[in-house]
This record gives sequence, C-alpha cells and structure tokens, in this order.
Amino acid sequence: MGKIAKKPLPVNLNLNVRGLSQSATLAINEKSRQLIQAGRKVYKFGLGQSPFPVPEPVVEALRQHAHEKDYLSVYGLLALREAIAEFNKRTQLINSSAEDILIGPGSKELIFILQLVYYGDLLIPTPSWVSYSPQARIIGRHVQWIATRAEDGYRLTPEKLDLICRSDPNRPRVVILNYPSNPTGCTYPAEKLKQLAQVARKYQVVVVSDEIYGMIHHQGQHVSMARFYPEGTIISSGLSKWCGAGGWRLGTFSFPPELHWLREAMATVASETYTSTSAPIQYAAITAFKGGAYIDKYLEDSRRILRFLAKVIRKKLQASNIETPAVNGAFYLFPDFSYYREKLKARNILTSAEICDALLDETGVAMLPGIDFGHQPDELVARMAYVDFDGRRVLEQLQAYDDKKLDEDFVKQNCPAIWDGVKGLTEWFKAL
Ligand code: PMP
Ligand code: GLU
Repeated sequence: MGKIAKKPLPVNLNLNVRGLSQSATLAINEKSRQLIQAGRKVYKFGLGQSPFPVPEPVVEALRQHAHEKDYLSVYGLLALREAIAEFNKRTQLINSSAEDILIGPGSKELIFILQLVYYGDLLIPTPSWVSYSPQARIIGRHVQWIATRAEDGYRLTPEKLDLICRSDPNRPRVVILNYPSNPTGCTYPAEKLKQLAQVARKYQVVVVSDEIYGMIHHQGQHVSMARFYPEGTIISSGLSKWCGAGGWRLGTFSFPPELHWLREAMATVASETYTSTSAPIQYAAITAFKGGAYIDKYLEDSRRILRFLAKVIRKKLQASNIETPAVNGAFYLFPDFSYYREKLKARNILTSAEICDALLDETGVAMLPGIDFGHQPDELVARMAYVDFDGRRVLEQLQAYDDKKLDEDFVKQNCPAIWDGVKGLTEWFKAL
C-alpha cells in the first residue's frame, strides 16, 4: 500500500460545546490562583465555596468508612436516602421517603441530567447561577430568561411566570428557582412561594427548587417550595454549601411520587455515565443529614458569621453609593455600580466584565460580572462571594463572643481579606 500523506485533523469544528468556555466560577478561581502564584495579592471573592470546615463528626465518619470500596446503587445508599428523607421531614415538614431520593456526584450533575432527560423549555429567572444555561446549551435545550427587578429582591413574580406560560399553556417547561440565591443572597418568603405555586400548578410546570443554600438561610428560616407545590417540585440540594464539602461532590434530588418517572429516567442515564456516587462519601453523608447538637451549633455559628459579614459589607458599600439588595442567606452579595456609570465611562469602562477586569488588575479584588448570571453587559452589577477567610479560625474565635455583640473589629481581625478587599474596592470607586 502506498503511503497516505498525513493531514491534520480538523480542530474545534465538531464540538457540541462550540462557543462555550470553562465555567466562569472555575475560571475566576484559576485566574486568582495564577495571580497569587505570580506574587500578586488577590482578594478571592470570585468562586463561591464555603469557607467553613466539614464538621468534625462528618470527617470522622469518612475516616471510618474509607475502606468502603464497592460500587453502590445508582439511586444512592439506602441508609443515606433514608437519612435525607428524615432530614426533609425534620427541616421542611414534608412527606418524603427513601424511594423519592436520588444521590449524585454533586447537584450540578443532577441538574444537568434532569435537563438531558426532560424534554422541555428551561425557564431561568435572572440573575441566576452561572451553570444552568450553559448546561442547557450543551444539551441543545431552549432557554428562556425571565428578567427580575432589584426592587422585587430579584425574585420571579407569579405574574411574570403566568405571562410566559399562558401563550402556550401545555408546553412542557422546567423552571429553576434558587433561594437563598446565588448570586444575590435574596430568598422567597413563604407567601411568594405560595403564589408561584398556584401558577406552576395551573400550567403543570416542573419546578427544580435549588435549595443548596437553604440551611445557610441567615436566620435559619428557609422554607421549601415543596410545601406548597409538592406534586411538581424537585428539591435540589447537597453537602457542598451548608456542610462545607463542595469538593466531596455529593448532591441530592428529592422527588414527589408524581415525578418518580423522572427519577427513573435520570437513574438510567446515571447508570450509563457515573454509575454511582463515591461510597465513603455517601457513608459519611449519613452523619451530616442525621444532624444533632454538634451540627446544629456549627450551622448556628456559620449563619451568625455570614449574617454579620453581609451586614458590615453592605454598610460599607452603601456608604460609597453602591446599592446592594438586603440579603437573607448564602454567602453572596450582588452590588450595583450604576452610580459610577459616567465616571466609569470616562475611563472607557462600559460593562460589568470591564469593571471586574479593572478591579482585579488595579485592586486585586476578584469578582464575577453580572453578565455571567444572565444580565446584559451594560448592567453594572457583579457578584461578590464574601468567603475569603479561614472559616475554622473564625468559628473558633466566635466562641469568645457567646453573648457579646459582634463588632467591626471582629471582621478586621479575623477576616482581614474581607475588610481590606472591601476597602480597596470602595476606595477605587471613590477615586474614579
Ligand atoms: N446550585 C447553585 C445555586 C450553586 O451555587 C451550586 C454551586 N456549586 C450548585 C447548584 C452545585 O453544587 P454541587 O454540584 O456542589 O452540589
Ligand atoms: N457554585 C459555586 C459558585 O457559584 C462554585 C462551584 C461551581 O460553580 O460548581 O461560585
């Protein structure tokens, strides 16, 4: 046979993910890491990762189960699913049983698989977490953004949902509600959920209720949509945020019996892709979901710290004419820099992405621009993840403040990167 001349294979032409790049949250983390390695001071308000350690009893449970080596059921370990069902009953007073639960390697993966198996339009209120829409794009699903307003606490209103559904009432749809919200920290009070539930029921919309920050509602008063729309709500949650275990990769979906067919379809895909979630992690997660005095105290302390930090940072931002909606949970703020629009323009800074680039360059503050959360480029908003502190140390220091009120000194001493980063940011704007 004669020789066939070597030809380069076409590059980049046949990708399903053409036009997409690595997730913004991971990209900002990588960029911050590189800058730090190059000797720069970076205030890491980019990636939204819990600053707190995994509670010691949960770590101990992982040690005890390090030897677990078998593949587990694709649905998840029965004892863990039972513990999660109990957790749902205890924290949300809803009916739940082990048959309703699906465990996955992170709720991110479960949200992706749901979109893969369910043929329906995806409705996403903006601003919303960075990954929902790229996931839909990877699969080729249609995404409909629904704009919300800062005055409404960036919440989806029942009127807006109705307007979208009424033109084609039988169309299959999934709406993702995330509260407390990434990126705003706002949440839905029970009354608003009830009103949304009525509209969702009217059009039989499947609601993915992303409650991954539910346990770090700053007052411990998280209420689930599943209380008001049980038949159509899937609760998405996991260990990543309230248990400080993002890197452990364990997510949970809780289905109502009416949607067990979706659980089955998802389990089929899971069985052909990731098989099952890491066995030692699932055993350890039982301890986390069973809860108890240690975990209650850990959660109370985490909430107290987050609540106070949000208050102090908001006050500083507001004093510099940077508006931020009042927050109820999670570890994010969503400042609006519109007050400085003209001054920014004079420096040829016209978009939220350009603000974030300039801030990182000139002050070392890393944040994610509003455009990553579905906002228009010229809406001058960004997400600040106030997580750049040593959570273990801060939890320890908090013990000295049992009855004492927290004060700004607490932040200055124990969360210096937060203090200095916010100062650098506000001074940068004032100097424009
Ligand atoms: N939803 C939201 C709103 C998030 O911020 C995250 C962040 N990781 C996830 C889902 C996914 O979490 P995980 O895959 O770690 O369960
Ligand atoms: N959810 C986190 C964030 O919004 C990071 C992890 C991730 O995106 O998967 O920053």
